[in-house]
Amino acid sequence: MNVLVIGSGGREHALAWKLEQSSLVKKVYVAPGNGASGRIDLNPNNVKEVSDFCVDNHIHCVLIGPEEPLSNGLADHLIKTHPDLIVFGPTRDGAQLETSKSFSKQFMKEYGLPTADFVTVSADNVKSLDSVFERVPWKKSVVKADGLAAGKGVIIPKDNEEAKNAARSILEGEFGSAGHTVIIEERLEGYEVSALAFVDGISFKRMPLGKDHKRLLESDLGPNTGGMGVVAPVEVPSEVNCQIDEIFEKTLKGLANRKIKYCGVLYAGFMIVNNKPYLLEFNCRFGDPETQVLMRLLESDLFENIRSCVQQTLSKCEIQWSTKSVCGVVLASGNYPKSGDKGSPIRKIPPPDDTNVVFHAGTSIINNQIVTNGGRVLCVTSVGETLHEAREQANKIASEIEFSGKQFRRDIGKSLDTVTPS
Ligand code: ATP
Repeated sequence: MNVLVIGSGGREHALAWKLEQSSLVKKVYVAPGNGASGRIDLNPNNVKEVSDFCVDNHIHCVLIGPEEPLSNGLADHLIKTHPDLIVFGPTRDGAQLETSKSFSKQFMKEYGLPTADFVTVSADNVKSLDSVFERVPWKKSVVKADGLAAGKGVIIPKDNEEAKNAARSILEGEFGSAGHTVIIEERLEGYEVSALAFVDGISFKRMPLGKDHKRLLESDLGPNTGGMGVVAPVEVPSEVNCQIDEIFEKTLKGLANRKIKYCGVLYAGFMIVNNKPYLLEFNCRFGDPETQVLMRLLESDLFENIRSCVQQTLSKCEIQWSTKSVCGVVLASGNYPKSGDKGSPIRKIPPPDDTNVVFHAGTSIINNQIVTNGGRVLCVTSVGETLHEAREQANKIASEIEFSGKQFRRDIGKSLDTVTPS
Protein backbone atom coordinates (compact mmCIF):
# COMPACT_ATOMS: atom_id res chain seq x y z
CA MET A 1 0.00 0.00 0.00
CA ASN A 2 1.14 3.55 -0.72
CA VAL A 3 0.08 6.12 1.85
CA LEU A 4 -0.12 9.90 1.53
CA VAL A 5 0.08 11.88 4.78
CA ILE A 6 -1.15 15.44 4.34
CA GLY A 7 0.70 18.09 6.38
CA SER A 8 4.16 19.38 7.21
CA GLY A 9 4.49 19.35 11.00
CA GLY A 10 5.95 17.13 13.69
CA ARG A 11 2.61 15.34 13.88
CA GLU A 12 2.88 14.26 10.24
CA HIS A 13 6.53 13.19 10.64
CA ALA A 14 5.52 11.02 13.61
CA LEU A 15 2.58 9.48 11.71
CA ALA A 16 4.81 8.73 8.72
CA TRP A 17 7.48 7.24 11.00
CA LYS A 18 4.90 4.90 12.51
CA LEU A 19 3.26 3.99 9.19
CA GLU A 20 6.65 3.07 7.73
CA GLN A 21 6.90 0.33 10.38
CA SER A 22 3.81 -1.42 8.98
CA SER A 23 4.41 -4.56 6.92
CA LEU A 24 1.34 -3.55 4.88
CA VAL A 25 2.82 -0.22 3.79
CA LYS A 26 5.18 0.05 0.82
CA LYS A 27 5.79 3.79 0.58
CA VAL A 28 4.77 6.82 2.62
CA TYR A 29 4.62 10.27 1.02
CA VAL A 30 4.29 13.37 3.22
CA ALA A 31 3.01 16.48 1.47
CA PRO A 32 3.97 19.30 1.60
CA GLY A 33 6.41 17.68 4.12
CA ASN A 34 9.53 19.05 5.82
CA GLY A 35 13.27 18.46 6.19
CA ALA A 36 12.78 14.89 7.39
CA SER A 37 10.34 13.68 4.77
CA GLY A 38 11.45 15.85 1.85
CA ARG A 39 9.23 18.52 0.29
CA ILE A 40 6.47 17.72 -2.20
CA ASP A 41 5.10 20.71 -4.07
CA LEU A 42 1.42 20.18 -3.27
CA ASN A 43 -1.17 22.53 -1.79
CA PRO A 44 -3.28 20.52 0.73
CA ASN A 45 -6.11 23.04 0.35
CA ASN A 46 -6.40 22.38 -3.37
CA VAL A 47 -8.53 19.23 -3.57
CA LYS A 48 -7.83 18.73 -7.28
CA GLU A 49 -4.04 18.80 -6.75
CA VAL A 50 -4.30 16.20 -3.98
CA SER A 51 -6.63 14.07 -6.06
CA ASP A 52 -4.27 14.15 -9.06
CA PHE A 53 -1.30 13.28 -6.84
CA CYS A 54 -3.18 10.19 -5.60
CA VAL A 55 -3.78 8.99 -9.15
CA ASP A 56 -0.25 9.73 -10.38
CA ASN A 57 1.42 8.00 -7.43
CA HIS A 58 -0.94 5.01 -7.00
CA ILE A 59 -1.97 6.08 -3.51
CA HIS A 60 -4.19 3.63 -1.58
CA CYS A 61 -4.65 5.57 1.64
CA VAL A 62 -4.72 9.28 2.58
CA LEU A 63 -4.29 10.40 6.18
CA ILE A 64 -5.17 14.08 6.63
CA GLY A 65 -3.17 15.73 9.47
CA PRO A 66 -4.22 19.39 9.84
CA GLU A 67 -7.69 20.89 10.36
CA GLU A 68 -7.63 23.33 7.45
CA PRO A 69 -7.86 20.81 4.58
CA LEU A 70 -10.53 18.94 6.58
CA SER A 71 -12.57 22.13 6.92
CA ASN A 72 -12.09 22.73 3.19
CA GLY A 73 -13.73 19.39 2.46
CA LEU A 74 -10.68 17.41 1.33
CA ALA A 75 -12.05 14.19 2.83
CA ASP A 76 -15.48 14.76 1.20
CA HIS A 77 -13.86 15.27 -2.20
CA LEU A 78 -11.56 12.24 -2.01
CA ILE A 79 -14.34 9.93 -0.79
CA LYS A 80 -16.57 11.07 -3.64
CA THR A 81 -13.99 10.96 -6.43
CA HIS A 82 -11.97 7.90 -5.31
CA PRO A 83 -14.41 5.42 -3.73
CA ASP A 84 -11.67 2.78 -3.25
CA LEU A 85 -9.30 5.09 -1.41
CA ILE A 86 -8.89 4.67 2.36
CA VAL A 87 -9.53 8.24 3.56
CA PHE A 88 -8.74 8.86 7.22
CA GLY A 89 -10.15 12.16 8.50
CA PRO A 90 -13.71 13.44 8.94
CA THR A 91 -15.83 15.10 6.29
CA ARG A 92 -16.52 18.83 6.49
CA ASP A 93 -19.69 18.38 8.58
CA GLY A 94 -17.80 16.37 11.23
CA ALA A 95 -14.88 18.80 11.17
CA GLN A 96 -17.25 21.57 12.30
CA LEU A 97 -16.75 20.27 15.83
CA GLU A 98 -13.39 22.04 15.59
CA THR A 99 -13.83 24.62 12.86
CA SER A 100 -16.79 26.39 14.52
CA LYS A 101 -16.63 26.84 18.27
CA SER A 102 -20.26 28.03 18.35
CA PHE A 103 -21.35 24.83 16.51
CA SER A 104 -19.30 22.81 18.94
CA LYS A 105 -20.71 24.53 22.06
CA GLN A 106 -24.29 24.16 20.78
CA PHE A 107 -23.59 20.49 20.08
CA MET A 108 -22.25 20.00 23.63
CA LYS A 109 -25.34 21.69 25.07
CA GLU A 110 -27.78 19.72 22.92
CA TYR A 111 -26.28 16.33 23.85
CA GLY A 112 -25.71 17.07 27.54
CA LEU A 113 -21.90 17.13 27.40
CA PRO A 114 -20.45 19.02 30.40
CA THR A 115 -18.82 22.29 29.34
CA ALA A 116 -18.43 25.82 30.68
CA ASP A 117 -21.55 28.02 30.55
CA PHE A 118 -21.44 30.37 27.59
CA VAL A 119 -23.13 33.01 25.47
CA THR A 120 -22.48 33.77 21.80
CA VAL A 121 -22.53 37.25 20.26
CA SER A 122 -22.39 37.93 16.52
CA ALA A 123 -20.79 40.89 14.73
CA ASP A 124 -24.14 42.46 13.83
CA ASN A 125 -24.95 42.54 17.55
CA VAL A 126 -21.76 44.11 18.85
CA LYS A 127 -23.81 46.80 20.65
CA SER A 128 -25.27 44.15 22.95
CA LEU A 129 -21.88 43.45 24.59
CA ASP A 130 -22.49 45.83 27.52
CA SER A 131 -25.77 44.20 28.45
CA VAL A 132 -24.34 40.69 27.91
CA PHE A 133 -21.59 41.39 30.43
CA GLU A 134 -24.10 42.91 32.89
CA ARG A 135 -26.05 39.64 32.77
CA VAL A 136 -23.28 36.98 32.90
CA PRO A 137 -23.34 35.35 36.33
CA TRP A 138 -19.64 34.44 36.42
CA LYS A 139 -16.76 36.68 37.57
CA LYS A 140 -14.09 35.63 35.08
CA SER A 141 -14.56 34.88 31.40
CA VAL A 142 -12.70 33.35 28.48
CA VAL A 143 -13.31 34.91 25.06
CA LYS A 144 -13.05 32.83 21.88
CA ALA A 145 -13.26 33.67 18.19
CA ASP A 146 -15.67 31.24 16.54
CA GLY A 147 -13.54 30.05 13.62
CA LEU A 148 -10.01 28.73 13.10
CA ALA A 149 -7.40 31.23 14.31
CA ALA A 150 -4.26 29.05 14.47
CA GLY A 151 -4.55 28.62 18.24
CA LYS A 152 -4.53 32.40 18.82
CA GLY A 153 -8.29 32.97 18.96
CA VAL A 154 -8.67 32.27 22.70
CA ILE A 155 -8.18 35.17 25.11
CA ILE A 156 -7.91 34.70 28.88
CA PRO A 157 -8.57 38.22 30.22
CA LYS A 158 -7.88 39.33 33.78
CA ASP A 159 -11.47 40.50 34.39
CA ASN A 160 -14.80 40.95 32.62
CA GLU A 161 -13.96 44.51 31.54
CA GLU A 162 -10.91 43.26 29.65
CA ALA A 163 -13.05 40.37 28.34
CA LYS A 164 -15.56 42.83 26.91
CA ASN A 165 -12.82 44.77 25.12
CA ALA A 166 -11.35 41.55 23.72
CA ALA A 167 -14.77 40.44 22.48
CA ARG A 168 -15.30 43.82 20.83
CA SER A 169 -12.00 43.77 18.97
CA ILE A 170 -12.64 40.20 17.73
CA LEU A 171 -16.10 41.23 16.47
CA GLU A 172 -14.56 44.30 14.84
CA GLY A 173 -12.28 42.13 12.77
CA GLU A 174 -9.11 41.24 14.73
CA PHE A 175 -9.21 37.66 13.42
CA GLY A 176 -10.97 38.37 10.13
CA SER A 177 -13.89 36.10 9.29
CA ALA A 178 -12.95 33.70 12.15
CA GLY A 179 -14.33 36.38 14.49
CA HIS A 180 -17.81 36.97 13.00
CA THR A 181 -19.09 35.42 16.21
CA VAL A 182 -17.51 35.28 19.66
CA ILE A 183 -18.11 32.83 22.46
CA ILE A 184 -17.90 34.27 25.95
CA GLU A 185 -17.66 31.52 28.52
CA GLU A 186 -17.14 30.94 32.19
CA ARG A 187 -13.52 30.52 33.19
CA LEU A 188 -12.90 27.11 34.76
CA GLU A 189 -10.13 26.35 37.25
CA GLY A 190 -8.64 22.86 37.33
CA TYR A 191 -6.11 20.77 35.43
CA GLU A 192 -6.15 19.98 31.71
CA VAL A 193 -5.83 16.65 29.89
CA SER A 194 -6.01 15.76 26.20
CA ALA A 195 -8.12 12.70 25.33
CA LEU A 196 -7.80 11.38 21.78
CA ALA A 197 -9.71 8.48 20.28
CA PHE A 198 -9.86 6.55 17.03
CA VAL A 199 -13.44 6.78 15.74
CA ASP A 200 -15.13 4.74 13.00
CA GLY A 201 -18.58 6.36 13.09
CA ILE A 202 -20.14 3.80 15.43
CA SER A 203 -17.47 3.03 17.99
CA PHE A 204 -14.34 4.58 19.44
CA LYS A 205 -11.08 3.44 21.05
CA ARG A 206 -9.31 5.89 23.29
CA MET A 207 -5.58 6.55 23.32
CA PRO A 208 -3.62 7.14 26.55
CA LEU A 209 -4.35 10.55 28.09
CA GLY A 210 -1.77 13.26 27.50
CA LYS A 211 -0.89 16.59 29.07
CA ASP A 212 -0.03 19.43 26.73
CA HIS A 213 1.96 22.53 27.80
CA LYS A 214 0.65 25.50 25.85
CA ARG A 215 2.57 28.35 27.49
CA LEU A 216 5.94 29.31 26.03
CA LEU A 217 7.86 29.51 29.29
CA GLU A 218 8.55 27.25 32.25
CA SER A 219 6.09 27.29 35.19
CA ASP A 220 3.30 27.96 32.65
CA LEU A 221 4.29 31.57 32.05
CA GLY A 222 4.45 33.60 28.84
CA PRO A 223 2.16 33.60 25.82
CA ASN A 224 0.08 30.67 24.55
CA THR A 225 1.70 28.62 21.77
CA GLY A 226 0.72 25.68 19.57
CA GLY A 227 2.21 23.49 22.32
CA MET A 228 5.71 23.34 23.84
CA GLY A 229 5.63 19.72 24.99
CA VAL A 230 3.52 16.78 26.07
CA VAL A 231 3.74 13.83 28.39
CA ALA A 232 1.75 10.61 28.30
CA PRO A 233 0.25 8.56 29.77
CA VAL A 234 -1.35 10.77 32.41
CA GLU A 235 -3.11 8.99 35.27
CA VAL A 236 -6.51 10.27 36.40
CA PRO A 237 -8.94 8.78 38.96
CA SER A 238 -11.05 5.98 37.48
CA GLU A 239 -14.25 8.01 37.99
CA VAL A 240 -12.78 10.71 35.72
CA ASN A 241 -11.87 8.09 33.11
CA CYS A 242 -15.42 6.68 33.17
CA GLN A 243 -16.90 10.14 32.69
CA ILE A 244 -14.57 10.78 29.74
CA ASP A 245 -15.75 7.49 28.17
CA GLU A 246 -19.38 8.54 28.65
CA ILE A 247 -18.67 11.88 26.98
CA PHE A 248 -17.19 10.11 23.93
CA GLU A 249 -20.21 7.77 23.81
CA LYS A 250 -22.66 10.68 23.92
CA THR A 251 -20.65 12.57 21.31
CA LEU A 252 -20.81 9.65 18.88
CA LYS A 253 -24.56 9.33 19.48
CA GLY A 254 -24.96 13.06 18.82
CA LEU A 255 -22.99 12.80 15.57
CA ALA A 256 -25.09 9.82 14.45
CA ASN A 257 -28.24 11.71 15.38
CA ARG A 258 -27.14 14.50 13.06
CA LYS A 259 -26.35 11.93 10.35
CA ILE A 260 -22.66 12.75 10.45
CA LYS A 261 -20.48 9.71 9.74
CA TYR A 262 -17.31 10.61 11.61
CA CYS A 263 -14.19 8.67 10.65
CA GLY A 264 -10.83 9.74 12.02
CA VAL A 265 -9.42 10.95 15.30
CA LEU A 266 -11.59 12.88 17.72
CA TYR A 267 -9.61 14.94 20.19
CA ALA A 268 -11.32 16.25 23.30
CA GLY A 269 -9.56 18.84 25.47
CA PHE A 270 -10.79 18.67 29.09
CA MET A 271 -10.49 20.80 32.20
CA ILE A 272 -10.89 18.53 35.23
CA VAL A 273 -12.60 20.44 38.03
CA ASN A 274 -13.15 18.58 41.34
CA ASN A 275 -12.92 15.23 39.54
CA LYS A 276 -15.43 16.23 36.88
CA PRO A 277 -14.25 16.61 33.25
CA TYR A 278 -15.54 19.66 31.36
CA LEU A 279 -15.05 19.87 27.60
CA LEU A 280 -12.96 22.86 26.56
CA GLU A 281 -12.82 21.98 22.90
CA PHE A 282 -12.99 19.32 20.24
CA ASN A 283 -10.36 18.92 17.56
CA CYS A 284 -11.16 16.83 14.53
CA ARG A 285 -7.68 15.36 14.05
CA PHE A 286 -4.53 14.16 15.80
CA GLY A 287 -3.00 16.80 18.11
CA ASP A 288 0.44 18.32 17.66
CA PRO A 289 2.62 17.62 19.71
CA GLU A 290 0.43 14.91 21.32
CA THR A 291 0.84 12.65 18.28
CA GLN A 292 4.64 12.62 18.49
CA VAL A 293 4.38 11.19 22.00
CA LEU A 294 1.45 8.84 21.31
CA MET A 295 3.20 7.27 18.30
CA ARG A 296 6.09 6.33 20.61
CA LEU A 297 3.60 4.49 22.84
CA LEU A 298 1.57 2.79 20.10
CA GLU A 299 2.62 -0.84 19.76
CA SER A 300 0.04 -1.85 17.14
CA ASP A 301 0.16 -1.31 13.40
CA LEU A 302 -1.11 2.24 12.77
CA PHE A 303 -2.12 1.38 9.21
CA GLU A 304 -4.36 -1.47 10.45
CA ASN A 305 -5.86 0.85 13.05
CA ILE A 306 -6.80 3.56 10.57
CA ARG A 307 -8.05 1.04 8.00
CA SER A 308 -10.36 -0.46 10.63
CA CYS A 309 -11.83 3.03 11.20
CA VAL A 310 -12.55 3.48 7.50
CA GLN A 311 -14.01 -0.05 7.23
CA GLN A 312 -16.06 0.42 10.44
CA THR A 313 -14.44 -2.60 12.10
CA LEU A 314 -12.72 -0.67 14.89
CA SER A 315 -14.49 -2.63 17.65
CA LYS A 316 -12.71 -5.80 16.43
CA CYS A 317 -9.31 -4.12 16.10
CA GLU A 318 -6.81 -4.68 18.93
CA ILE A 319 -4.90 -1.50 19.73
CA GLN A 320 -1.92 -2.00 22.05
CA TRP A 321 -0.10 0.72 23.97
CA SER A 322 3.18 0.58 25.86
CA THR A 323 2.89 1.17 29.60
CA LYS A 324 6.14 3.16 29.65
CA SER A 325 6.23 6.96 29.91
CA VAL A 326 7.09 9.35 27.09
CA CYS A 327 8.08 13.00 27.24
CA GLY A 328 8.03 15.21 24.15
CA VAL A 329 9.96 18.48 24.27
CA VAL A 330 9.44 21.02 21.50
CA LEU A 331 12.43 23.05 20.31
CA ALA A 332 11.21 26.39 18.98
CA SER A 333 12.96 29.20 17.17
CA GLY A 334 13.95 32.43 18.96
CA ASN A 335 10.99 34.60 17.96
CA TYR A 336 8.31 31.98 18.44
CA PRO A 337 5.32 32.40 18.87
CA LYS A 338 5.48 35.86 17.24
CA SER A 339 7.23 34.51 14.16
CA GLY A 340 9.43 31.67 13.00
CA ASP A 341 12.95 31.45 11.64
CA LYS A 342 14.27 30.33 8.27
CA GLY A 343 17.60 29.04 7.12
CA SER A 344 19.59 28.66 10.39
CA PRO A 345 21.63 25.43 10.32
CA ILE A 346 20.57 22.74 12.81
CA ARG A 347 23.30 20.49 14.20
CA LYS A 348 23.66 17.45 16.43
CA ILE A 349 20.27 15.81 15.84
CA PRO A 350 20.93 12.26 17.07
CA PRO A 351 19.80 9.31 14.92
CA PRO A 352 16.64 7.60 16.25
CA ASP A 353 17.05 4.73 18.69
CA ASP A 354 14.77 2.81 21.07
CA THR A 355 14.86 5.63 23.63
CA ASN A 356 14.98 8.85 21.62
CA VAL A 357 13.35 9.92 18.37
CA VAL A 358 13.57 13.52 17.19
CA PHE A 359 10.63 14.47 14.97
CA HIS A 360 10.97 17.35 12.52
CA ALA A 361 8.40 20.16 12.22
CA GLY A 362 9.62 23.54 10.88
CA THR A 363 12.72 22.25 9.06
CA SER A 364 13.92 22.03 5.49
CA ILE A 365 17.08 20.99 3.67
CA ILE A 366 19.35 23.47 1.89
CA ASN A 367 22.57 22.17 0.29
CA ASN A 368 22.33 18.91 2.23
CA GLN A 369 22.10 20.83 5.51
CA ILE A 370 19.01 20.64 7.78
CA VAL A 371 17.92 24.22 8.52
CA THR A 372 15.11 25.92 10.43
CA ASN A 373 11.89 26.69 8.57
CA GLY A 374 9.24 27.77 11.07
CA GLY A 375 8.30 28.43 14.69
CA ARG A 376 8.21 24.98 16.19
CA VAL A 377 11.30 23.33 14.72
CA LEU A 378 11.75 19.88 16.30
CA CYS A 379 10.15 17.67 18.92
CA VAL A 380 12.44 15.43 20.95
CA THR A 381 10.58 12.35 22.25
CA SER A 382 12.11 10.09 24.87
CA VAL A 383 10.83 6.93 26.52
CA GLY A 384 11.48 6.10 30.19
CA GLU A 385 10.28 3.83 32.97
CA THR A 386 8.99 6.96 34.72
CA LEU A 387 8.00 10.42 33.54
CA HIS A 388 10.97 11.83 35.37
CA GLU A 389 13.37 9.52 33.51
CA ALA A 390 11.74 10.30 30.15
CA ARG A 391 11.97 14.04 30.76
CA GLU A 392 15.63 13.92 31.88
CA GLN A 393 16.48 12.04 28.71
CA ALA A 394 14.51 14.40 26.43
CA ASN A 395 16.06 17.47 28.09
CA LYS A 396 19.54 16.04 27.57
CA ILE A 397 18.97 15.61 23.83
CA ALA A 398 17.20 18.99 23.60
CA SER A 399 20.25 20.70 25.19
CA GLU A 400 22.67 19.02 22.81
CA ILE A 401 20.88 19.96 19.56
CA GLU A 402 22.18 23.27 18.22
CA PHE A 403 20.55 26.04 16.23
CA SER A 404 20.54 29.80 16.61
CA GLY A 405 17.86 31.15 18.99
CA LYS A 406 16.74 27.68 20.19
CA GLN A 407 14.25 27.78 23.07
CA PHE A 408 12.58 24.94 24.98
CA ARG A 409 10.98 24.18 28.33
CA ARG A 410 12.78 21.88 30.77
CA ASP A 411 9.71 21.32 32.95
CA ILE A 412 7.48 19.31 30.59
CA GLY A 413 5.36 17.02 32.78
CA LYS A 414 7.19 18.04 35.95
CA SER A 415 3.96 18.81 37.81
CA LEU A 416 3.00 15.14 37.36
CA ASP A 417 6.13 13.60 38.90
CA THR A 418 5.01 11.17 41.58
CA VAL A 419 8.48 10.46 42.94
CA THR A 420 10.54 13.47 43.88
CA PRO A 421 14.11 12.73 42.82
CA SER A 422 16.75 13.11 45.54
P1 ATP B 1 -5.87 24.75 20.12
O1 ATP B 1 -4.73 25.67 19.81
O2 ATP B 1 -5.48 23.56 20.96
O3 ATP B 1 -6.71 24.37 18.96
P2 ATP B 1 -7.95 26.47 20.66
O4 ATP B 1 -7.41 27.72 20.11
O5 ATP B 1 -8.91 25.71 19.83
O6 ATP B 1 -6.77 25.58 21.09
P3 ATP B 1 -9.15 26.05 23.27
O7 ATP B 1 -8.51 24.72 23.39
O8 ATP B 1 -10.61 26.12 23.34
O9 ATP B 1 -8.65 26.86 22.02
O10 ATP B 1 -8.51 26.94 24.41
C1 ATP B 1 -7.11 27.14 24.49
C2 ATP B 1 -6.71 27.14 25.95
O11 ATP B 1 -7.41 28.18 26.65
C3 ATP B 1 -7.09 25.85 26.67
O12 ATP B 1 -6.11 24.85 26.49
C4 ATP B 1 -7.21 26.33 28.10
O13 ATP B 1 -5.93 26.42 28.71
C5 ATP B 1 -7.76 27.74 27.95
N1 ATP B 1 -9.23 27.72 28.10
C6 ATP B 1 -10.15 27.58 27.12
N2 ATP B 1 -11.40 27.61 27.61
C7 ATP B 1 -11.30 27.80 28.93
C8 ATP B 1 -12.21 27.93 30.02
N3 ATP B 1 -13.53 27.92 29.84
N4 ATP B 1 -11.71 28.11 31.27
C9 ATP B 1 -10.38 28.16 31.50
N5 ATP B 1 -9.45 28.06 30.53
C10 ATP B 1 -9.89 27.87 29.25
